[in-house]
Amino acid sequence: MQVVRSKRALKAILSQQVNKIIGFVPTMGYLHEGHLALMKKARLENEFVVASVFVNPTQFGPSEDLEAYPRDEEKDQKQSERAGVDLLFIPSVEEIYPKDVSAQIKAVQAVDVLDGKARPGHFDGVLTVLLKLFMLVQPDRAYFGQKDAQQVAVVQNFVSDYFLPVNIRVVETVREPDGLAKSSRNVNLLEEERKEAPVIHQALLAGKARILDGCQNEKEILDAVREVLRAATLKLDYLALYSYPDFKPVTDFTKPIILAIAVQYEKARLIDNEIVRVSGGETNATNDDVC
Ligand code: AMP
Repeated sequence: MQVVRSKRALKAILSQQVNKIIGFVPTMGYLHEGHLALMKKARLENEFVVASVFVNPTQFGPSEDLEAYPRDEEKDQKQSERAGVDLLFIPSVEEIYPKDVSAQIKAVQAVDVLDGKARPGHFDGVLTVLLKLFMLVQPDRAYFGQKDAQQVAVVQNFVSDYFLPVNIRVVETVREPDGLAKSSRNVNLLEEERKEAPVIHQALLAGKARILDGCQNEKEILDAVREVLRAATLKLDYLALYSYPDFKPVTDFTKPIILAIAVQYEKARLIDNEIVRVSGGETNATNDDVC
């Protein structure tokens, strides 16, 4: 695996990969098995795999954890190599943002809820850095995790709207054995918080079970989630149910639904979600009287 930090070095290596199908995995580093699942899938599906490690300042709000975001470049290099990455791009902030941009990207669809609402400007920053990275790497396919489901929807819309020549591939959420979604931020959980945190996924599963049982009452579904969280110390940032992938209020429970949550612990904000497909044969419903 080659490691490069400049656009120039990146381009030089990419120019040697004539006619190869390129897979790209953008990350903010502090890699875990979630990231590695993306890299391994990219390895299987492409002839040349590029990954990036870049903690993108423009997607962090002024009071967010940019400074506290965990970093371990040496370990990231080893893990990427093991996952089959051919070229790892680790640019500095100056390399990506050498000057103020002359035109800005503003995400306007599917961003009035969840993280789009809770983190104003977050998806503008995500799309800005992705456009820059896509232009530099020019991948055939780019890999994203279902854990950041709203990001997937926003990116897919962007790529489709602007005819960007990249195929977006989505990888299932990778979890710890106790169900906690893997996240670079998990390292910032206090010991007691880490013990408690699997309750986040358990709560989502309780809500999912209600939907699959045929419940179509949003309040009762969300109450089932809250009930599991009742004794937890975490602070609920949001908990909501939307149609997926358009993030609108649910009107048809036979269409895909996302049950999404964000919680704030002392030093870590965690998000998770479950996608529920009642019409996909997953239903447990036996009668109409279920909520
Ligand atoms: P990040 O480094 O947090 O920006 O994440 C980089 C990519 O890895 C994004 O597409 C994330 O959705 C994905 N990712 C992060 N955590 C997980 C996970 N637990 N399972 C699957 N993908 C993940």
